[in-house]
Amino acid sequence: DGFEAAGLAEAVLRNVARCGYDNPTPVQRYAMPIVMAGRDLMACAQTGSGKTAAFCLPVVSGLVAAPAGGGSGYGYGRRDRGFDRVAKPRALVLAPTRELAAQINEEAKKFSFQTGLKVVVAYGGTPMYNQLRDLERGVDLLVATPGRLVDMVERSRISLEAIKYLVMDEADRMLDMGFEPQIRKIVDMMNMPKKSVRQTMLFSATFPPEIQRLASDFLYNYIFVTV
Ligand code: AMP
Repeated sequence: DGFEAAGLAEAVLRNVARCGYDNPTPVQRYAMPIVMAGRDLMACAQTGSGKTAAFCLPVVSGLVAAPAGGGSGYGYGRRDRGFDRVAKPRALVLAPTRELAAQINEEAKKFSFQTGLKVVVAYGGTPMYNQLRDLERGVDLLVATPGRLVDMVERSRISLEAIKYLVMDEADRMLDMGFEPQIRKIVDMMNMPKKSVRQTMLFSATFPPEIQRLASDFLYNYIFVTV
């Protein structure tokens, strides 16, 4: 029961092999088939458990299997100074810090190698210029910190209306850092507010009442995994 058992796309399996991963870690073994089956997931897992690959692999696989309709990754939207490109990612990973977002971005890029998918990262504490340039080249999977993402959506640089996969990584840390209002705003801005349409995965090291509340607000008929 290696990575093949999860039903990942061929291109993704090749990238797993390139990374030198021989066997899935426990959280990967439990979580990947659930996500591949289209179900929502609440996973309690620590850093170092291999949680990044546990959500990246099935999400990348799902994006490969369902190519976006023509001219993907961006759309044309009206902005103040005329028509400009608005990035329309199909998958969003929210992370609490720029360091974690950068790590997830690196890993997602490795798993997307030779798939044609575009992975972009956007975090605060740094000028927006380079991130906007990356977004204008198109984006399938966006990794972002909540504050920077809200800022970019409010400036009409990103639209969340095409989001099919939503991952919240280290949700307990995001709440500790005070990001709950931004997270709720982000989910409200999605054009698929219906929980049953979007596929949502919530990762957290702990499962206190405030995380249970996020799970019941954002997840649909979810499966709980703890490692
Ligand atoms: P994470 O918990 O996602 O931060 O991952 C911890 C580390 O384990 C990262 O450096 C990964 O590259 C590595 N890793 C994740 N999954 C596997 C695996 N199945 N086999 C070997 N290493 C892995």
